[in-house]
Amino acid sequence: MSEVIFEKKSRNPGEHVSPTDPLFKLSAAIPEKHLRRSPLGIPELSELEVVRHFTRLSQKNFCVDTNFYPLGSCTMKYNPRVNDQVAAWPFYARIHPYQEERHVQGMLQVIHELEEDLCRITGMDAFSLQPAAGAQGEFAGLLIVKAYHDLKGQKRTKVFVPDSAHGTNPASAALCGYEVVQIKTDAAGRVDVADLKTKAKKDTACFMMTNPNTLGLFENNIREITRIVHDAGGLVYYDGANLNALLGISRPGDMDFDIVHVNLHKTFAVPHGSGGPGSGPVGVRAELEKFLPQPRLKRTEEGFVWDYDRPYSIGRLRSFYGNVGAYLRSYCYIRALGSAGLKRVSEFAVLAANYLKARLKNHYEMPHDSHCMHEFVCSARAQKAKGVKALDIAKRLLDEGIHAPTVYFPLIVEEALMVEPTETESKQTLDEFADAMIRIAEQADRDPASVQAAPVSTPVGRIDEVKAARTPNLRWQD
Ligand SMILES: *Cc1c(COP(=O)(O)O)cnc(C)c1O
Repeated sequence: MSEVIFEKKSRNPGEHVSPTDPLFKLSAAIPEKHLRRSPLGIPELSELEVVRHFTRLSQKNFCVDTNFYPLGSCTMKYNPRVNDQVAAWPFYARIHPYQEERHVQGMLQVIHELEEDLCRITGMDAFSLQPAAGAQGEFAGLLIVKAYHDLKGQKRTKVFVPDSAHGTNPASAALCGYEVVQIKTDAAGRVDVADLKTKAKKDTACFMMTNPNTLGLFENNIREITRIVHDAGGLVYYDGANLNALLGISRPGDMDFDIVHVNLHKTFAVPHGSGGPGSGPVGVRAELEKFLPQPRLKRTEEGFVWDYDRPYSIGRLRSFYGNVGAYLRSYCYIRALGSAGLKRVSEFAVLAANYLKARLKNHYEMPHDSHCMHEFVCSARAQKAKGVKALDIAKRLLDEGIHAPTVYFPLIVEEALMVEPTETESKQTLDEFADAMIRIAEQADRDPASVQAAPVSTPVGRIDEVKAARTPNLRWQD
């Protein structure tokens, strides 16, 4: 660390003095041009004024603690406060990752037990909690695919991804150097098995699937699909972001998947979407355990230790222990609910989605009108004919005090609106949402311009999202 030296502007250079003295300047490594020329304009305010300012600012943020947040695929459920409390307990929160293992056995036990719980929930044999997000879990999974085939001396170049997949799937595959091959969706909204059959060959490295898929539908032919890929010598990867539909009901391991990631921040109640860091543990069946990220937690006579002696490991993905705050929250969530409670989570999530779907189906097109799982996708195609797009409906919902559903995803549904209510909403809230959606459909019919003008009640109106993404300006403008 470089020592910062404060010196007088003119007299006695090198004399150490107080940095708060206005006569002196900070002259260490900071170039002259970056130094402030006039005093910082800090307002003089009372404590009450500051409290009001920040309270007001906090309420400009849309969050699941204030309003319904049916953002499809993101599982914006209520995050029980007790989990936050436990994560903040000093003997967890004040652990330093450089502390000796024998001093942090409690934390290591939590990690171990959470790995075991995830194995039981998914039917896999081993888990690593290291990946910091779903996308990194996918990346870890594909590195494992690569390590597996490399060890067998096989050159396999293709990763299959359904055309309904989340964008991170093809991105992770491409990042690992694989060629991404799209698998079609059939008329029923499921993987087109015939298309898969023609493509599964000697160069197939892996099929990445999401189940239930992003249309909110369970893949009925799942066992046949995994068999086709295995027969071709490939591995099957399960994107477990939609696990909220299946807890205690069915398991990727029983569907013959080789690798799974789960999103603790979605399914297992960790605040996300500006609510804090996520966690995307990756799980495998026994044969692939040796490839998992290192270090691995190992139980010995003396307690838990980190094992770095893992010659086949894909390596380290994340510093220290990973996002332990997320582990603690999910651990509490899983232990508080137990297996019967987790099953009820999924049953209620599926019930809520089907209820909303039934309430909306006479007002919005349902491209795949069969029973859904924990979410469903409707289309604003009919409204678009009147000039009201899915985006306009999303913005109008903000005026109703409701977060927009996911829009324009999955890509295979025109004007898609993807709704995921989660299990934690009351029937009253679900009805308020359905009523708002129906009102908007009527407005789109009668007075399209009023919907196109939305939002009118939010702190900012429509922003230029493309410009924000393409030419981000992160500098503070004076
Ligand atoms: C959210 C999501 C991901 C990516 O997870 P992150 O934690 O956001 O990186 C991948 N697949 C699906 C289906 C998802 O919904």
